[in-house]
Formats: sequence, C-alpha cells, structure tokens
Amino acid sequence: MDLMYTSTRKGKETVTASQAILKGLASDGGLFVPTSIPKLDVTIDELSKMDYKETAYEVMKLFLTDFTEEELKACIDKAYDSKFDTEVIAPLVKADGAYYLELFHGATIAFKDMALSILPHLLTTSAKKNNVKNDIVILTATSGDTGKAALAGFADVPNTKIIVFYPKGGVSPIQEKQMVTQKGDNTFVVGIKGNFDQAQSGVKAIFNNKELAKELDAKGFQFSSANSINIGRLVPQIVYYVYAYSKLYAEGEIAKDEKINVVVPTGNFGNILAAFYAKNMGMPIDKLICASNDNKVLYDFFETGSYDKNREFILTTSPSMDILISSNLERLIYRIAGSDEVKNQELMDALSKDGKYEITDSMKKELADFYGNYTTEAETAEVIRNLYKETGYIIDTHTAVAAGVHKKYVAATGDTNKSVIASTASPFKFTRSVMNAIDEKYDALSDFELVDELSKIGNVDVPNAIEEIRNANVLHNTVCEVADMEKVVVDFLTK
Ligand SMILES: *Cc1c(COP(=O)(O)O)cnc(C)c1O
Repeated sequence: MDLMYTSTRKGKETVTASQAILKGLASDGGLFVPTSIPKLDVTIDELSKMDYKETAYEVMKLFLTDFTEEELKACIDKAYDSKFDTEVIAPLVKADGAYYLELFHGATIAFKDMALSILPHLLTTSAKKNNVKNDIVILTATSGDTGKAALAGFADVPNTKIIVFYPKGGVSPIQEKQMVTQKGDNTFVVGIKGNFDQAQSGVKAIFNNKELAKELDAKGFQFSSANSINIGRLVPQIVYYVYAYSKLYAEGEIAKDEKINVVVPTGNFGNILAAFYAKNMGMPIDKLICASNDNKVLYDFFETGSYDKNREFILTTSPSMDILISSNLERLIYRIAGSDEVKNQELMDALSKDGKYEITDSMKKELADFYGNYTTEAETAEVIRNLYKETGYIIDTHTAVAAGVHKKYVAATGDTNKSVIASTASPFKFTRSVMNAIDEKYDALSDFELVDELSKIGNVDVPNAIEEIRNANVLHNTVCEVADMEKVVVDFLTK
C-alpha cells in the first residue's frame, strides 16, 4: 500500500507522493503531510556503512512509495553528483565541542541545495508518472537562498520554467548577484518592492487563484512550488540527519543508541521539521533546538504557545531567517492537534485574519521535544569572532545564530548530549557580515576583496559558486510592486 499524503486543512484532499510533489500546495491552501511517518527499516549499523546516496535511498523510499526503485535511484544519482564539491556531500566538522553538519557543499553553497538539487528530478519524474502534458512552472518566493538554489536546479530542465521573487534590498549582495546572473531561457528573476513575507503571500495568492490556473492550463502551463512547503523539499532534508547520526556512530563519536540534540537555524521551519521527521522515523534524536534571529516569533511561540506575527519585521545579518510566517510550522500544528484538520484550519484562519493564534494546553504538551531561543545581532557577531579566534573555523551568520542558541541551551539546562548544529550556508555567501564580525577593519574592503581575505584567514578555497559570479553579467533586472506580481508572471509566460 502506498503512503498517502493528506492536506492539513478542511478539504482533506488525499494524494500520492508524486501528486503531492506536483501540486506543492493542496487545493484548500493546506500543506500535504504523510498520513503516518514511516519507521526506518534498516539498523544504525547498516546505515553506518552507507554513503550519502545509499542513505538517501533508504529514507526516501519510505516516503515516496509510488516511485519505483529505479526512478528514485536515478533521481538520487542525478542530484548528489559532482555538483557537490565533496563526495561526502554533507561533512561533519567538530569545533568547540559541537559537530557542525556542513550542508553548503552544493551548487549554490547553502543548505537549500540539499533538496533543490533533487527536486527537479522528483518533479519531472512525478509529471511523467501522472501523464502531465503541461509545462511545470515553478513559482518561488525567496529570502535569498531558495531562489538561487531553485534556479540552479531548474535551469534548462526541459518542460519546466522557473520564476523567482525576492525582496529587493532584503538579500545579501552576493545572494542578489547569484540570482540576477542566472542563465537559462526558462529562468526569470524579479525583485519586489516589499519584504519576504509579502513575496511569499503574493506567491500563495497566485497559487490559489483558480481562474488564473484555468487560463494558464489552456496555454499549456501549470504551477508547482519549489518552496519548502513542497514535500519534495522536505523529504530529502530528512536524509542528512539520518546520515549525520550514522556517521557520528561510524566514527566512534557516539555510542550505540546514544541520543543527540540537533540545533537548527530556523526561518520557514522546513529544516527543523525534517529533523523532527528523522526523530519520528526512529533516529535517537533527543531535543530539537530551534534557533531564531531577532525575528523571534518562533521563540515566543515555544515560550507561550501563542504565535503572533504582528510585530516589526527586522532586517538582520541572517536574512534567510528574516521570516515572520514560518509556513512549515503548519505541519507541526496539524500533528500536535492530533491530525485534526478542523482545529488546524481554525488556527490558520486566525493567522490570516488576525496574524496570530494560540494553541491549546494539550497541544503545548506535545512540544516537549522542542526548545526555542534566539541570538541577537551583537551575539551572532560575537559567536563568529570567538569561534574563529579559538579554533580558526569560520561559520556564516545563520549557523552562528544556531551556535549562539546552542550555548544558551547548554547554559540553561546543563544537558550533556552531543549536538549537531546544522551549518546552513558557507561563510562566503555572507562575506561582509562574517568578516565584519571578525574585525571591523574589513568593512573597508570591496565584496570580492573580502572573499579573497576570507579564503586567506580561514584557509579555505573560494567556492566555485563565488568564482562563477565574480565577472558574470546581470541578466535579470525586473523590479515590481507587490500588487503586480501576478501580472509579471502572466507576462513572462505569455510573452
Ligand atoms: C533557508 C535558510 C534557513 C532557514 O531554513 P528553514 O528551513 O526555512 O527554517 C537557514 N539558513 C540558511 C542559510 C538558509 O538558506
């Protein structure tokens, strides 16, 4: 029997994995969740002997049950190849008593590559399986990293187009340059005069516009999403938590069945939800530590049980976490409500109407595995500086937010579990913030002088992704008002 996926909302739409991947969002605006979380059917000893691709297969086959072995293995092979600059794919680096799981060795040097290098293959395979004749149009809002990773994944993939909206002025100069220099006739990059949440809401509105869908269907197009709400993003992210645990065990860093904590710098709640799924598959993960920056809506939620986005939106040096609506949290809310779509719908309606909701006491009890905290801007810089001074290891701003919360967690609880910190971006992606954190004198340097200096003081090669854009031409310069996003999409598809 296939594992089915059901909407978190009242429509209760139930589909196969490949259909869920194709659709992205359910028709009722909900997110697709598996009707149960499968248990791993291999032992940790077996896993400890597997490489990344083999581990990926063992995890993903349990979620994508309507893919044949051949189909799934083909997708995995195409994704985790020489686009990654290490065969290990996701190396663990021990520094200052924690294990940094480096998820930034792919094409765009951020962890989004882990899922977005495989999503195009999962999607085109899903389209074939479901006899889809239309071109798939990927519509994505990005706070910086998803956009480039999705563009890199989908560029020139036949029968697909990709449109990316990013907040103009809300992403790092390197992130922007990475996107606006993207090649491929099927790619389109648009800056919006607004913030990430507005970009995300705009994209959701386009998805939910049934008339537009009809109009575009007649022209041979249908939308899908590369955002982290797509289960084709979520499932590949479970893999690296399983992999990290089994590598720690293989290398003798942890004993058999020893519990570890994971610390995840969080924005849309996709990455940490994947860790939660890994735990529910049977991995010995104890605490799920959710790290926020100054946009600490999740910290407040874990503290009080009240989710409230009515607050100032703060631009920080970890822009990929500058988010006030963490879309994937809905999957957790649905689950802690006892898979109750009516209760979840009620809370999500409150969120869209009043910008806030409050969970019940019994739901709150279900959150015991989670710990939330946040790292301020000054603390983030201090974490980077201190880690560099003490160990020579340089981490990016997002990872530093997680490392800062990890320190607070240990100080508050005295927990001695070993911890894996998800290292979500290369420091080369946020060079100015990282170098300024180490020493303010670096602010005088240009962006690419900073790149070379970082390479020198950190003793790491400049990643390919950065070399590529040094002299690349800007190919995308469209900027639009939030209200015009739909029009821009239609123009691009029908020009
Ligand atoms: C996207 C991103 C995050 C946040 O991940 P979510 O899955 O949205 O919680 C953290 N760090 C970096 C570098 C990112 O690109």
